[in-house]
Amino acid sequence: MSKFWSPFVKDLVPYVPGEQPKIERLIKLNTNENPYGPSPKAIAAMQAQINEDLRLYPDPNCDQLKHAVADYYSVGPQYVFVGNGSDEVLAHAFHGLFQHDKPLLFPDISYSFYPVYCGLYNIEPKQVPLDEDFQIRVEDYQQPNGGIIFPNPNAPTGCLLELDKIEELLQANLDSVVVIDEAYIDFGGDSAVSLVKQYDNLLVIQTLSKSRALAGLRVGIAIGHPDLIEGLERIKNSFNSYPLDRAAIAGASAAFADADYFHSTRNKVIASREWVTEALSTLDFEVLPSEANFVFARHKTRDAKELAQQLREEGVLVRHFTAPRIEQFLRITIGTEEQNQTLIDVLQRCI
Ligand code: PMP
Repeated sequence: MSKFWSPFVKDLVPYVPGEQPKIERLIKLNTNENPYGPSPKAIAAMQAQINEDLRLYPDPNCDQLKHAVADYYSVGPQYVFVGNGSDEVLAHAFHGLFQHDKPLLFPDISYSFYPVYCGLYNIEPKQVPLDEDFQIRVEDYQQPNGGIIFPNPNAPTGCLLELDKIEELLQANLDSVVVIDEAYIDFGGDSAVSLVKQYDNLLVIQTLSKSRALAGLRVGIAIGHPDLIEGLERIKNSFNSYPLDRAAIAGASAAFADADYFHSTRNKVIASREWVTEALSTLDFEVLPSEANFVFARHKTRDAKELAQQLREEGVLVRHFTAPRIEQFLRITIGTEEQNQTLIDVLQRCI
């Protein structure tokens, strides 16, 4: 690395994203993408933007999208922030939202970008262990903190924390901000967006990469009290005042408006998740209860790393993590019915 970088950059431990190989011959069940593709109305809306108006800057406020999200959740547009993928929205939150004199609490098994952002923004992380069933225990978050963040459903476990427990957590932490990363909420859970008017310490972050099948477009949103949203806007305008291009604003807005397509594809993923869970159990896997578009499963006798390698050789890509307590699990994204069937057929041969 060039000597011109400051030592702090040399010391960064960056996030390592899941593998994104050329997929002609691979069934890609490793990064929780949606197998069904975006709403045809979203594709048409994006295509309509590919014209000479691209010489003009997009709307810096992304009002069209803010209104589409606000309509969907029955909140005012002043409750909505949008950014270039939820990773960027999360980065803005880490940049300025948490108190730096106390640790940020998050589960010891959760989204591996959180410790990376702690390093980048000089925040002290404190990882709170999940219980023996891999669940978040809200009682463990009643300790001094400069903020709390966790995915719901959690990633990579897929386990959901119910809304009444979230409210308990918010009540117990009225003096610090609670960020709920709802990347996977549409596959079974109730969104905490219903609580944002009541709790000014709650920020909900979502993505269009999963249930709306637009990972390639890079759109994320945050919903929270307008006082929280105002800070995100200030950070964004000090960093990149045009986070979304014209196609992204139009496509994401159309995806939010197309409720029929959203519900039908989401329901297919949920039904397939139940099918995959059942099939894996029959093959002697223990599968954690998932409300996400993936399952987290460990085989009773076979080594997870070896299984992942064998699956790969057979053309099926799944995710294996090396972190303590989860090294014998595989995280498997729910694919199309055909892909799921192939996964199970291949596993049947491998085991
Ligand atoms: N949060 C969680 C829990 C995730 O798993 C992901 C996807 N890797 C993200 C946020 C980021 O999603 P995106 O940047 O595609 O919106």
